Amino acid sequence: SAPFGLDFGNDTSVFAVARNRNIDVIVNDVSNRSTPSVVGFGPKNRYIGETGKSKESSNIKNTVSNLKRIIGLNYDDEDFQIEKKFFNKTKFVKLEDGKIGVQFRFKNENVTFSAVQLAAMYFDHSKQIIEKETKLVIKDVTIAVPSWYTQEQRYAVEDAARIAGLNPVRIINEITAAGVSYGIFKQDLPANDKDTEARNVIFVDIGHSSYSASVAAFKTGEMKILGTGFEKHFGGRDFDMAITNHFIDEFNAKYKVDCRENPKAVYRLLTAAQKLKKVLSANQAAPFNVESVMDDIDFSSQLTREDLEKLVEPLLQRVKVPLENALSQANLTIDQIHSIELIGGASRVPCLKDFIAANYKETARTLNSDEAIAKGAAFICASASPMVRVRPFKYTDVLTGDVNVDFGDGEFNPVFTAGSPYPATKLITVNKNADFKITVQNSKNEVVSVFDVTGVPAEGVELKIKVRADPSGLISVPSVYFETVEEYEEEDVDEEGETVKTTKTKTHETQLKVSHSSPYALTAEKLAELTALELELSAADNLVMQTEDAKNTLEEHIYYCKDKVSSDEWKPYASEAELAKIKELVEKAEEWLYSEDGEDAKKAKYVAKYEEITRYSNLVKGRKKQQEQEASLAKKEKEGK
Ligand code: ATP
Ligand code: MG
Repeated sequence: SAPFGLDFGNDTSVFAVARNRNIDVIVNDVSNRSTPSVVGFGPKNRYIGETGKSKESSNIKNTVSNLKRIIGLNYDDEDFQIEKKFFNKTKFVKLEDGKIGVQFRFKNENVTFSAVQLAAMYFDHSKQIIEKETKLVIKDVTIAVPSWYTQEQRYAVEDAARIAGLNPVRIINEITAAGVSYGIFKQDLPANDKDTEARNVIFVDIGHSSYSASVAAFKTGEMKILGTGFEKHFGGRDFDMAITNHFIDEFNAKYKVDCRENPKAVYRLLTAAQKLKKVLSANQAAPFNVESVMDDIDFSSQLTREDLEKLVEPLLQRVKVPLENALSQANLTIDQIHSIELIGGASRVPCLKDFIAANYKETARTLNSDEAIAKGAAFICASASPMVRVRPFKYTDVLTGDVNVDFGDGEFNPVFTAGSPYPATKLITVNKNADFKITVQNSKNEVVSVFDVTGVPAEGVELKIKVRADPSGLISVPSVYFETVEEYEEEDVDEEGETVKTTKTKTHETQLKVSHSSPYALTAEKLAELTALELELSAADNLVMQTEDAKNTLEEHIYYCKDKVSSDEWKPYASEAELAKIKELVEKAEEWLYSEDGEDAKKAKYVAKYEEITRYSNLVKGRKKQQEQEASLAKKEKEGK
């Protein structure tokens, strides 16, 4: 299978694949290089990606976006309370396991899907887009997530990938993936030896919903993330909200109404605000026109870049803290920084760039800032695959939270601390005389993982435990073992031919059984159930699409035949009876197609009708073609003489 790198964005996602010694961004069903991260539901099928987005305004209640902000979160998490204001008409429910679910009207029934399932639907869609476009099999995937994603969220993303039939080989931090892109594509990095100073680059990623900054040190073939800062709730959508609120107030004052109560009106204004914001990144002023906001009122206004800058001024200050946190965690000052690389769509806002330049350092955009994350992720996926050869590139990241572990004594101690590098392994020694549990907590003191260790000898033993912060930012226990020393005698013959005995020792490692469970990861049983359901839903969607295609094919052929018959074009090639038959079949099919039956029939019905007509029409078409070919041959022969 071809390695797949997925930049799972809150607004749009980018799909990259490693193939033919290259890393390519794959275009979607309408040839765009990024795809809206949207899932919607209709009376017959799901609308995912581009279709979801295009149907969103007429299908608000049954469309959900901001998927990456709800996956893996508890319903009662304070983050979710903050997130809620970005959802327009979404009907949330608290699921039995405390997670977030969403209710929809789908196929004329009320259904509930978990956030993990919704993300899985989107991942499945992305997989199918790539498979269709590249004709390659897609299985292994590296998914990019924000550096602040907790272990819980990472488990949820892995589960979503598995439900979509993918194999999540790595969960990678977005900025780290972009850094890997920088490291593999830049040709002028410092030499990789002890005496050469590394190039320190700050990456600033301001996306749709969140903002991260990381300091990375580069040498040829190597990158070390030295520090990371973030503001989970800062991005382009905050600018959109500021602009939208400005125009809502203007609209309400002008027409003495409250359009905030009307989700469609808010949606229309928000969409226009997003467009306006982008236009103002390149222009000093722009008009703001929205047709039929509500009650058939068309709204016209305008905004200058200066106005926009006043509206978002309070937001700008929020750029500082993450950037400074990243620097201080890296133990560097701004004059030790080679450059500040901007990625993420919202970093295109001119006053944001200016703010960073004025307070820190002139910014650069030398990477393809929309595609660097996906490409880096695909490279990392390819590196992990034994099937694909890539240039070696080493990188390390840093943990954003403390990892506290209890080794069965009821006491939690930090095994890794925030800011420490990973992947990393620590060897812990404990004395045990019975089976026990290793429990991992997150920084909120919630249990994330439990590792059951069995087979501990009752006489008591000194155990060695390997605790690993793995490349996906998850904590694992790759082995628990004890050592026994065995003495044995070795016989040798010395120079004089005498046998000499020496006592030697051998150390045995006895591995104990470790089984992992997490309240945040799905059980194998549940995973199998949801995978089967996703397979079923996607097959049903495909059938709806094929049925739609079969219907269109029939309709087109009806018009084609009607035209040929009525224009007498087929007259020289068919008998009266044949033409009459075609005419009769076509008229009957047309009547059926626009009846209640034909409007919504099974795929096989459309195909059968089509074949009934082509049995005759193809005959005539064939004859026409043959006669034309013969005529052209005769003509050539004549000219040749
Ligand atoms: P996140 O990183 O939060 O998950 P994302 O990766 O989907 O989101 P990006 O694609 O990096 O986000 O950026 C999308 C944001 O950038 C949107 O808010 C969009 O309006 C904004 N944006 C895109 N182009 C421009 C532009 N030219 N000027 C201003 N803002 C822009
Ligand atoms: Mg992003």
